[in-house]
Amino acid sequence: MPTRKKFVAGNWKMNTTLAEAKALGAAVAKGVGTDTNVTVAVCPPFPWLVPVGEAIKGSAVALGAQDVHYEKKGAFTGEVSPAMLIEAGCKYAIVGHSERRHILGESETAINHKVHTALEEGLSVILCMGETLAERERNLQERVFQRQVFAACAGLTDEQFQRLVIAYEPVWAIGTGKVATPDQAQEAHAFVRTKLRQLYGDKIADTTPILYGGSVTPETTAGLMSKPDVDGALVGGASLKADSFVAIVKAA
Ligand code: PGA
Repeated sequence: MPTRKKFVAGNWKMNTTLAEAKALGAAVAKGVGTDTNVTVAVCPPFPWLVPVGEAIKGSAVALGAQDVHYEKKGAFTGEVSPAMLIEAGCKYAIVGHSERRHILGESETAINHKVHTALEEGLSVILCMGETLAERERNLQERVFQRQVFAACAGLTDEQFQRLVIAYEPVWAIGTGKVATPDQAQEAHAFVRTKLRQLYGDKIADTTPILYGGSVTPETTAGLMSKPDVDGALVGGASLKADSFVAIVKAA
């Protein structure tokens, strides 16, 4: 069986003042330290990337952005390019979060374009996917996974897949306190991994980390992580408290 290193990322969303962001980054860095067998990243809002990067310097915590634009540069008012994120200290960018898909109307074409540009420019990508409550109630989740993952990954090279992390985030579980059960997460992750195997082969299927996201807490982490295809967590609400986030990292 391949061993995939566990990965825990915090998505701070549109939260924190500058002072709170610096303090949170510093507290996470202190709690995680330099020696961890889990890959850890925090994703603050764009304007706080550089100061949070300073606050986590010297620790094992990496910096990520919550989004990235699909073009490399130019007349795109309000957007942020992959090269800017790299210069700001980012290793990761989240792409295709459900809040961007559903609230901001981000299309699968745009998501595929973002994944390509971010990887080409040297970032690693945390690609989010997952079904809505209505889709699950109609038992359409597997069709949704297949469509979202394969639309987003179309055209990637084997080398680029090595910098791709998938996050399964059922929309009904995000920010609702209604976490998927370990069995529900395992079932979804196993389906995605089987599809990766059919389409892209064993190496990509065995090495691509698949994180779970949606109301993860310190209490629910160990159960989720005990499943063979759950390789970590993308944490929203609980990542805003250093104690909770560090407890999730320790439990992963
Ligand atoms: P949540 O958010 O942990 O607050 O449910 C997860 C996410 O949206 O990434």
